[in-house]
Amino acid sequence: MQNAHAVPHVVIVGGGFAGIAAARALMHTRVRITLLDRTNHNLFQPLLFQVTAGIVEAGTISAPIRSLFRHQRNVDVRMAEVDGIDKDRQLVYLTGESPPIHFDYLILATGVRVSYFGHDEWAQFAHGMKTLLDADRLRRQIVGCLELADQEPDPRAREELMRFVLVGAGPSGCELAGSLAGIFRRGLPQEYRHIDPRQAHIVLLEAGPRALTAFSEPLARGAVNQLRSLGVDVRLGKPVELIDEDGVVVGGERLRARTVVWTAGVAASPAGQWLGTETDRMGRVLVGTDLSVPGYPRIFAAGDTAHIEYQGKPLPCVATVALQSGEHIGRTLAAHLTGAPGPGPFAFFDKGNMATISLGYAIAETGRIRLSGVIGKLAWAFIHVQYLGQAEGQALLCMQWLINLLLSRTSARYIDEHVPLIAAERTPAGTR
Ligand SMILES: Cc1cc2nc3c(=O)[nH]c(=O)nc-3n(C[C@H](O)[C@H](O)[C@H](O)COP(=O)(O)OP(=O)(O)OC[C@H]3O[C@@H](n4cnc5c(N)ncnc54)[C@H](O)[C@@H]3O)c2cc1C
Repeated sequence: MQNAHAVPHVVIVGGGFAGIAAARALMHTRVRITLLDRTNHNLFQPLLFQVTAGIVEAGTISAPIRSLFRHQRNVDVRMAEVDGIDKDRQLVYLTGESPPIHFDYLILATGVRVSYFGHDEWAQFAHGMKTLLDADRLRRQIVGCLELADQEPDPRAREELMRFVLVGAGPSGCELAGSLAGIFRRGLPQEYRHIDPRQAHIVLLEAGPRALTAFSEPLARGAVNQLRSLGVDVRLGKPVELIDEDGVVVGGERLRARTVVWTAGVAASPAGQWLGTETDRMGRVLVGTDLSVPGYPRIFAAGDTAHIEYQGKPLPCVATVALQSGEHIGRTLAAHLTGAPGPGPFAFFDKGNMATISLGYAIAETGRIRLSGVIGKLAWAFIHVQYLGQAEGQALLCMQWLINLLLSRTSARYIDEHVPLIAAERTPAGTR
C-alpha cells in the first residue's frame, strides 16, 4: 500500500474555475490533493442570471465537485469552509471543530464576494447574484412579486411589486435586465388575468457614463439600444444615493420597488487577509509571474482571488483568467515536482468578451472581431455550452433553451406556498 505521507500534499481552496483547473492539471502527478470548498458544487457563474430569470434550472449550471473528479484518484474533495491560514506553519484552518490541515503546497482560489462600496447597510435590501442560493432567492422574489401583484387591488402597491431595479450595467446587470424583459413580454402575458407583465418597470442603473465598459463603445451602445427597445429603462451616469426597504433613491428621485438587485461591484474573498500579504484595492492577493505569493514559493493564488499583472496591466475577474491561471499553477507544480521544464511566467491568452441581451441579440468581441445580433447570439450560445463542460449539463441546457425559444416558456417558476419576499417588513406604499 502507498505511504500517503511520502506524497506531497497540495491543498486547493475553492472549487471554482481556477481550483478545478489547477487540480486537473495535476492529474498525472504523484501528489495528494485535498480540494476544499464551502459548497459541494462547482458553479458556472456566467449563466447565473438565467437561473434568476427562471430560464434554466439550478442543477443545469452546477455540478457536484466530487463528480468532476470521479476518475481522478489523487483528488479528495471536502465540503468545508476555510477561515484562516498559518503560512509559516503551513496550516489551513477550517470553521467549526475540524482540525487544521497541513499543506506542502497551497493554491488559493476562493473567488470574490459582493461589495456595496462601503454601504454594507444596503445588503439587506439589494441582493447580490453570486451564488446559486442568491440566484434562487432572487428568482423566488421575482415570481413572488408577480403573484402578489396579480392579487393587489392598490395600483401604487402593484406598481412597486412590478418594478425591478437592477444596479450596475455590466454584463450581469444587462443580461438579467434583457432576460426579464424578454420573459415578461413573451411567455407570461397570457397567464395573468389582473396584471400585464409587459407593464413591469425594469430599471437598469449605472453610475458611470456608459454600460458594458469591457466592450468597445459601438457594441455597448448597440446593447443598450437593444435593452431600451425591449422596454428596459436604462439610466446611465446615475449613481444610487440610497437603498432601503422602500426601494432606491437615484438622482434625487425615489423609485419605490420591492426588488432591487445589486450587480455593481465585487471585492476579493478574505484570502489576502488570511495570508497577511500585500493586496490591491479590491483585496486581491498580489502574486508574482509564477502566480506564487512573494516570499512564499509554496503558496499560490489564482483566478478572482489573485491580482495578476500581465503586460503591465492587472487582469480582470473573468472566467478565462481563472481557468488559465489555475491551469498554469497546476502545470508549474507538476513540473517542479517531476523535475520537468516548467511553463515559465504566466502568459494570458485573451479570448474576448461576450454578453447576451435578448433571445436573438448578443454581443461578442475578440481583438478586432466584433459580433452582434443573431450571429453574436449563436457565438455566445456555442461558447457557453462548450465551457459548461459536463455532457449532462450541456444537454439539459440546450433543452431548456429550446423550450424557452420555441414555447416562450421558462422552466423554473415554482415557489413555495409561503412567499418569503425580500424586504417584506416595510412602510406602506405612499407614506414617504
Ligand atoms: C453573475 C456572474 C456572471 C458572470 N459572467 C461572466 C461571463 O459572462 N464571462 C466571464 O468570463 N466571467 C463571468 N463572471 C466571472 C467569473 O464567473 C469569475 O471570474 C470566475 O468564476 C472566477 O473563478 P474562480 O475560480 O476564481 O472563483 P469562483 O468561480 O468564484 O470559485 C470560488 C470558489 O471558492 C469557494 N470558496 C469561497 N470562499 C471559500 C472559503 N472560505 N472556504 C472554502 N471555499 C470557499 C466558493 O464556494 C467557490 O466555489 C461572472 C460572475 C458572476 C458572479
